[in-house]
Amino acid sequence: MVLYQMDFYRKAEGRIRKGFIMYPEDQKIKRNLELALQSGMKLNTMQLQEDVIADPRPAVTETSLGFDDVSVRDVYIVGTPFCGSTLLGNALNGHPDISYMGETDRLFPFRINPLPTKCNFCTANDEKCPIWSEDLIDKMTLNGPASVSGLYREIVKAPIVVDGSKHAYWLQKVHAEGGISDDTVAIVSVRNPLAFANSWRNYTKEPIWQGANLWRDTYFDIFRTLACFNMPYLIVRYEEFAFRPKKILKIFCGFMGISFDSKMMQFWEEPLHSLGGNWGAHVWFKNSHNLIKFQQDQRHLLSARNAFKEHTFGGWVDKKWHGRIRPNEISAALTTPYLIELAAFLGYDIKDLIL
Ligand SMILES: [Zn+2]
Repeated sequence: MVLYQMDFYRKAEGRIRKGFIMYPEDQKIKRNLELALQSGMKLNTMQLQEDVIADPRPAVTETSLGFDDVSVRDVYIVGTPFCGSTLLGNALNGHPDISYMGETDRLFPFRINPLPTKCNFCTANDEKCPIWSEDLIDKMTLNGPASVSGLYREIVKAPIVVDGSKHAYWLQKVHAEGGISDDTVAIVSVRNPLAFANSWRNYTKEPIWQGANLWRDTYFDIFRTLACFNMPYLIVRYEEFAFRPKKILKIFCGFMGISFDSKMMQFWEEPLHSLGGNWGAHVWFKNSHNLIKFQQDQRHLLSARNAFKEHTFGGWVDKKWHGRIRPNEISAALTTPYLIELAAFLGYDIKDLIL
């Protein structure tokens, strides 16, 4: 084991500190590090990330993983909270060529309100996760955001890996560290702004107009980011996905250049090892009773489970916010500058925003 002294970035504390770092097994990193030190290079955060650790996208190709017919591709779901991204990710995970990682930005301490996270189902069932091992998480946190999808793909052996972190800043972080390739695409997941503002108020107690502001600004940031990165994207409205999931999943498969697989419509039959997200979207899986027991507030999950028992996947109408927002609150939300224009751009019929 080799021990080096250098300036390194202790991410958990968010500042540069003098410290030690050990690279016991990676010969390439060790060699680069020795060369850098011999040449008198003063190491700092950027050099560590770019010159030394510096393999932000592990050399994973179609050939190296044996994917002959399907392109290796990273997919980032972006959107506001409560936009249906967990259900979408779970459904995509039903396809044999797709693996859904969940909200991987939770692994990194720069996340706003960082939450320690582990695989939802394995944690609830007190099992050792075959995917999210401590070793994998250590490698990801050491190599940074750009390494996440590649390292995950090496474990799951799926050509298409979906990240459900949702935040534009996460995409920006991955891009800044060299983790976005020409094959990377995004799904912009949206929900009716009033439905979002109602959920946001339930969660934060903030007024409806503040939720409307957040909805607008979040999508402005997302589209600005996607334009800057020249990244192809598909817009998925939650309401349409919840009502006609098969249609949306077929469109997504066409976007990916893969064939639709009916397993997506019974996604709960496939193993899922995802991080974070809305646990209400997990209630169909057969071991979800442990997930419900594990959750402190069980009422929400139990009611979601009962609702799912009565329905097939699809045909749902998002009514939870109906009657919950007063007329003056709707006025305040819809007079938010550029909100109506943005909703129309995203494909909403404006009269649906008024009820
Ligand atoms: Zn697991």
